Amino acid sequence: MNFPYSSGTVPVSTLGTPRIGPRRELKAALEDYWAGRSDAQTLLDSAARLRAANWARQKALGVTNIPSNDFSLYDHVLDTAVMVGAIPNAYGWSGGPVSLDTYFAMARGSQGDAGACAHGHDHGQEHGHGHGVPALEMTKWFDTNYHYMVPEFSAGQRFTLASTKPVDEYREAKALGYPTRPVLLGPVTFLKLGKAKDPGLDPLSLLGDLLPVYVEVLRRLAASGAEWVQMDEPCLVLDLDEPTRAALREAYGFFAHALPRLKIMLTAYFGELGDNLDTALALPVAGLHLDLARTPEQLRPVSEKARAGLVLSLGVIDGRNVWRADLPKLLDVLEPVVRRRGTDHVEIAPSCSLLHVPIDLERETELDPDVKSWLAFAVQKMDELTTLATALAGGREVVLGKLMASGAAADARRASAKVHSSAVAARLAAVTPDMTQRQSPFPARAEAQHHRLRLPPFPTTTIGSFPQTAEVRKARAAHGKGELGDAAYEAFLKQETAAAIRWQDEIGLDVLVHGEFERNDMVQYFGEQLSGFAFTRHGWVQSYGSRYVRPPILFGDVARPAPMTVEWWKFAQSVTHKPMKGMLTGPVTILNWSFVRDDVPRSLACRQIALAIRDEVADLEKAGAAMIQIDEAAIREGLPLRRADWDAYLGWAVESFRLCASGVADATQIHTHMCYSEFNDIIAAIAAMDADVISIETSRSKMELLEAFVSYRYPNEIGPGVYDIHSPRVPSVEEMEELLVRATQRLRPEQVWVNPDCGLKTRKWEEVRPALVNMVGAARRLRPGA
Ligand code: GLN
Ligand code: ZN
Repeated sequence: MNFPYSSGTVPVSTLGTPRIGPRRELKAALEDYWAGRSDAQTLLDSAARLRAANWARQKALGVTNIPSNDFSLYDHVLDTAVMVGAIPNAYGWSGGPVSLDTYFAMARGSQGDAGACAHGHDHGQEHGHGHGVPALEMTKWFDTNYHYMVPEFSAGQRFTLASTKPVDEYREAKALGYPTRPVLLGPVTFLKLGKAKDPGLDPLSLLGDLLPVYVEVLRRLAASGAEWVQMDEPCLVLDLDEPTRAALREAYGFFAHALPRLKIMLTAYFGELGDNLDTALALPVAGLHLDLARTPEQLRPVSEKARAGLVLSLGVIDGRNVWRADLPKLLDVLEPVVRRRGTDHVEIAPSCSLLHVPIDLERETELDPDVKSWLAFAVQKMDELTTLATALAGGREVVLGKLMASGAAADARRASAKVHSSAVAARLAAVTPDMTQRQSPFPARAEAQHHRLRLPPFPTTTIGSFPQTAEVRKARAAHGKGELGDAAYEAFLKQETAAAIRWQDEIGLDVLVHGEFERNDMVQYFGEQLSGFAFTRHGWVQSYGSRYVRPPILFGDVARPAPMTVEWWKFAQSVTHKPMKGMLTGPVTILNWSFVRDDVPRSLACRQIALAIRDEVADLEKAGAAMIQIDEAAIREGLPLRRADWDAYLGWAVESFRLCASGVADATQIHTHMCYSEFNDIIAAIAAMDADVISIETSRSKMELLEAFVSYRYPNEIGPGVYDIHSPRVPSVEEMEELLVRATQRLRPEQVWVNPDCGLKTRKWEEVRPALVNMVGAARRLRPGA
């Protein structure tokens, strides 16, 4: 093969690396510090060790553009807010260096007692009712399961250089012998991610005051020796209005003018530049990074339009997923680009920072060897990057062994019987439209259900989980380690379950739950019982701060070999005469909280899960369940970044839900539950799901979130949450009654159910008991004759 190799090398970048440490060292260091078991210096030393190890690892693996300032004690958006002095007054900062206490107060509130929603993917903050300063708000980082702290801007907002972290860490690396490319969150994305405290304030209007602070940081970086700086502007993959595009031009024009010699690698990731391409290409930057894992199609238009001098960073290795790349195939794509632009005008990179993947596959000794051979975590991805770069610079022969192994693994995965099941394919092919259709429209179903269930008006229930006490977690851990036998563990769980049911019965709840004591996690519990899923032991990724998750890996066709929850449901129903809800996690949520296979469309994987859940629904119904709840906490989370893609997503998401929920008789009541959703822009899809009852999180919004349902004239039944489960506080009968009154003013009274905002897993029994007693009391006050 004849390939013109111009110069020796092609640079390799990682854009950013996981911060948490291969053994979750950062979590331990933070929690020790927060609990007062260690001092600040100990924490900072641990952090420095993690950074040094990250740099050393990248160097050893041949990464040439090693990043600095990709590390964070908590969150890089928070770091940026602190860097520019965007510290709300409530935190009591009055200039000068920002203390760790201030930093962590912004992250976790000054009481520091972080809790969580029933599922760890949620924002997970306690609300400081009365005392202390609450944390900044937290929300999802683009379409990942990483959460960032939302910067807050107020009228008269000024910025000032309050932290020199990027410069300090650049110098720290340099002193250790690593010349790095510092990473900054770009000013426009930073402002767009923030929120204005004062109505009428447009964060973008603050750009002019912000830019000089950035320039000061850039100047110090350049003075310290940095030649390149990576500026992350992932907002470039969103739908942008003209003022935002103008802000980008202003910002990068300002930088180019202030520091003409400093080179900026501008990164856009999590999607394609699309209609922002011309804006991006016109910015006076030295390099542009593209996400080519998500949208490989954009390579052609970009490489055709990009001016010759622009360095293109080709993000071909998937930074968001765990799959091993097919390197020979990637080389086919890359070689022509390199030939055209020359090795000095390309870089090889992951699609985005490696923050979102686990660190090292080698630690997974218990994975199925075939599945393992198809995976790559951060360390393996770095090796893939350098292999590609070596082949591009010196020819495929130099790394022939690695290329062949990569191609062979890809072929094996494509052909594996572990991935492809003809039975699943046949079932999928046999799905007919009527399978997504309940037998009768809602009014007829409601009548059949009311006749069967005979519930009082304003029926009371809970969302599913009861407190996962230390005892429950200890028993699960002991069982996991083999210290507690199956029989003893089951006996323990039955005892907990029975006690929780008897208590619910006693306090007068109308519809009971079994408490979910047997579940580790609402997705993992099902994944472990379905074929097509694999689980890691050490595959942690940061969800927020010191909270990490180990997402299941969906690698193959999904089927349900045996019933998953039926025995538990039967046991639970045997304890009471009141209706016991079957409790399942929906297909969209299982999908959105997993690493999903990249060899079939997400919609297809989702439909497979839906069929498996449909079987479970049918078995629960057969066992006698009159009500089955199918949680879809993550439906909104899955919304694509671009509006134009929403309908397609919502179309298959709703269809999947209907597919799993529609196989039952009219008299079987289907419930669903959604966390903290804003419904305005998706209410039509929510209605199209056609669940008989939906419970949502509304207590903190004082029923404001109901408005979407009201103006849509949502026809089915609704349980607007009246108890804020994010807080340890026990709500009174009166305040819950008031919330219910507000709900009945907006909805038809016969539509209204009474329940907490979400599951009670993270709460203590001492809080839950009085709160639910009050909730039942509030419902009773609304009933006729009360
Ligand atoms: N049934 C689940 C629980 O109560 C629902 C949790 C959730 O939606 N986050 O724990
Ligand atoms: Zn919830």
